Amino acid sequence: MTSGIEATFARLESAYASGRTRPLAWRRAQLDALRRMVNDHRSDLVAAIRADLGKPAAETMLTELNLIAAETRFVRDHLRAWTRRRPVAMPLALQPAAGWTVAEPKGVTLIIAPWNYPALLLLEPLADALAAGNAVCLKPSELAPRTSALIARLVPRYLDPDAVAVVEGGAAQTGMLLAQPFDHVFYTGGERVGRIVMKAAAEHLTPVTLELGGKSPVFVDGTCDLAVAARRIAWGRFTNAGQTCVAPDYVLATPDVAHRLAERIAVAVHEFYGEDPRRSPNYGRIVNDRHVDRLCGLLPAGTVPAPASARPVSPLVKAASVFGAAADMVGRRLGMGGGASRAADPRAADPAGRVVCGGVVDRETRYVAPTVLFGTSPDAPVMREEIFGPILPILVVRDADAAIRFINARPRPLAAYVFSRDRATRLAFERRTSSGALGFGLPLGHLMSARLPFGGVGASGMGAYHGKTGFDTFSHMKTVTVKPSHPDTLRLVYPPFDAVTRRV
Ligand code: NAD
Repeated sequence: MTSGIEATFARLESAYASGRTRPLAWRRAQLDALRRMVNDHRSDLVAAIRADLGKPAAETMLTELNLIAAETRFVRDHLRAWTRRRPVAMPLALQPAAGWTVAEPKGVTLIIAPWNYPALLLLEPLADALAAGNAVCLKPSELAPRTSALIARLVPRYLDPDAVAVVEGGAAQTGMLLAQPFDHVFYTGGERVGRIVMKAAAEHLTPVTLELGGKSPVFVDGTCDLAVAARRIAWGRFTNAGQTCVAPDYVLATPDVAHRLAERIAVAVHEFYGEDPRRSPNYGRIVNDRHVDRLCGLLPAGTVPAPASARPVSPLVKAASVFGAAADMVGRRLGMGGGASRAADPRAADPAGRVVCGGVVDRETRYVAPTVLFGTSPDAPVMREEIFGPILPILVVRDADAAIRFINARPRPLAAYVFSRDRATRLAFERRTSSGALGFGLPLGHLMSARLPFGGVGASGMGAYHGKTGFDTFSHMKTVTVKPSHPDTLRLVYPPFDAVTRRV
C-alpha cells in the first residue's frame, strides 16, 4: 500500500512528466496565482504569523509578504529572457558546428522551510521553483502551525493542485518525504537537520540547496557614525525578536567606541520599542518555550527568572526586573552615569558580560527583552552557538585586524557586517573574510533584493537563490550541440590515428 506521501510524490511526478509545468504560460499563471494568493490573504497570513510568532503586522508585511510579492514579480518579468537559448561559440576543430545552453526544469522538487519567516522562506523559493518550471512539494515548519495550516489550505485553491502540493508535519513526515527520489531538495533551517537532509538526498544523488545559519559578526570602529550604526544594528538584531538567520549575532567593537556603541544601541532599543518593549506593538515573541529556555541559558547568571521546569516567576519579580532595566537605561539617557559606568566595567564577572539593557524574560508570554550585553568573553556560552534571539553581545577587539582574525577562527558565517568609513578596513574585510554576504553599513539589506544571490558558504550553507540565482538553482543548464552531417570534418579524429601519430 502506498502512503499519502508516496501518492503525493507520484502525483507530482506524473504532472511533471506530462510536460504541463514547462510552458511559460503555465509558469506565469502559477506565479500570478501565487501573488494573488498572498494579496488576497494578507490579513490571514498576518494573523497566522502573529499567532505563531507574535510578529507585528507591519513586520510581516515588510519582511515577508512584500518580499514574496517582489520576488514573484521579478522572476515573472524575467522568465522569457532566462529561458532563452544562450548561444556559445564552438572550437575551430569542431566547425562547422553550433552550441547553446538552455535551462530546463530540475523536475520534482522539495522545499523544506523553517518557522522564523514561515511564509517568506516557503513561498519565495516556491516562486523560483515555479519560474523554472518545476513541480513542487512544500513542507512548511510544524513550529509555525497556523501558518502551515493556512498555506496548506490556500495552495490547492490557487495553484495547480497536480503540480504543487503541501505536506504538513515535522521530522517524521520530512523523513518520509526525503525517502522519495526528488530531483532537487531546497532546505532552510539549522545545521543539524541540514546534515540529515544532505545524507538522505545522497541516497538518490539528489542535489541540495542548504540555507543554514551561523553567527553573523558585526565590526564597528571609531570612523563610523555611531548613532546610525547603533540604530541599524539594533534594527537588524531585534527584528522578529532576533529570530532572523542573517541578524547581527555579535559585535566586535574597537575600544574607543565599544562602550558608547552599547549605550547607543540601548537608546535605539528605547526609541524603537519604548520604556517596556513587552508592551510595544512593534516587538515580537520567541517561537516556543524550548527556545525561551535556551536563550535564558545564554544570559548572565541572575539576570533572568529561572528557566524551564522552575516555578513561574511572580509578576512582581518580573515587574521589578523590567523596571530596573528601564530605569537603568533612562538614567543613562539622562546622563546620570550610574548604569553606564557599571555597564562599562571591563572586569565583568560573568563571561556573558554585563546587561546594558534588557535581560528580562517572561516565560508565560515567551517574551525575551531586547538585550545588549557588554564585555562578553569569547568563551561565554552566548558566543558558542547561534543566538537566534534578541540578545546582542558586544566584545571589545583591538582593531580591524584582530576582528578579522576572530572571525576567521570560526565557521564561515551567513553574513558579516562592517561599520567603518575607512577604505582600507573595508577592503580588508572584503578580501580577507569569507561569509555568505558582506554588508558595509547595512545589516539584512542584501536579502531584500531579487538581484542579489542569497545563500551561505561553508557551515552557513551551500547554493543560493533569489531572482536569477534562484531560477538557476531550480534549473538544469543543458548543453546542446549540433553539427551538420556534411562536410564530415570529424573524419580527422576517427581511428585509425596514423595521421595524428605521425605528427606526435
Ligand atoms: P525548524 O525546526 O523549523 O526546522 C526546519 C525544517 O526542518 C522544518 O520544516 C522541520 O520540519 C524540518 N525538520 C526538523 N527536524 C527534522 C529532522 N530530524 N529530519 C528532517 N527534517 C526535520 O527550523 P530551525 O532548524 O529551528 O531553524 C532555525 C535555523 O535556521 C537557524 O540556524 C537559522 O539561522 C536557520 N535559518 C537559515 C535561513 C537562511 O536563509 N539561510 C533562514 C532562516 C533560518
